[in-house]
Amino acid sequence: MESQTRIKRRLNELGLRSRLRARPRAQGRVLAPAGMFRRLPTTAGLYFPFYHDVPAGYAGDLRRHLRTFKRLGPMVSWDEALDVLAGRRELNGPMFCLSFDDCHPTWLDVAAPILRDLGVPATFFLTTGMVGRPGNLTWQDCRDLLAQGYHFGSHTITHQRLSDQDDGAALREIRDSKHEIEDRLGATVRDFAAPYGSLVDFGDRELDAVREAGYRSFATTLRAPMHPGDSPMFIQRQGLHPAWPIWAVRTRVHD
Ligand SMILES: [Zn+2]
Repeated sequence: MESQTRIKRRLNELGLRSRLRARPRAQGRVLAPAGMFRRLPTTAGLYFPFYHDVPAGYAGDLRRHLRTFKRLGPMVSWDEALDVLAGRRELNGPMFCLSFDDCHPTWLDVAAPILRDLGVPATFFLTTGMVGRPGNLTWQDCRDLLAQGYHFGSHTITHQRLSDQDDGAALREIRDSKHEIEDRLGATVRDFAAPYGSLVDFGDRELDAVREAGYRSFATTLRAPMHPGDSPMFIQRQGLHPAWPIWAVRTRVHD
């Protein structure tokens, strides 16, 4: 039964979902009608919207998303968001903490100029094994982003599903990626985002390893808004694509 469910899930992932992912405008149109039953947040809640690649053709769309969030509430850094969870900073309405995953060169070329223009802080969760490969950021690009004031976290070395790996490999993904970013960028890395980030993709073993490796936060892709008192070792983020219309964003970011 277990394996059948797995196979089904895999086929489902490889089928419609991946076809839609490859065509984010179409994916956004498919999602949008469900947004009719949701509204963008108006009550107190900390939201962690995140993106991957921002192709130049979607620059204006990313700007529109970020402007929409900014109208609803402040956009804060990862540090500030952790302060909210710890009760050290007040949460009176919607608040947003932005991040990006993997290793996309468009972070530097497309996203960073928009973030700078709008005054939006961001965290980049880097998959270290991708750095320097064709079509990815170089370490110098990462240093440039760091020099511009952006924050880095780890997103493992190889981006494999952690729960599929043996104990030693999972630990290396978590610990060695941290050390490599620290060595290459000369900045302390204390925040981790699990590849894929849903409940089948990590477990207690990963949470323990992340704590032991010296991280202070663990980001998932579960989507609920967060509040003071919630654990930084289970941050829930809302995965978005800049190509999506705001109605599709509402299916992920809502109160
Ligand atoms: Zn990823």
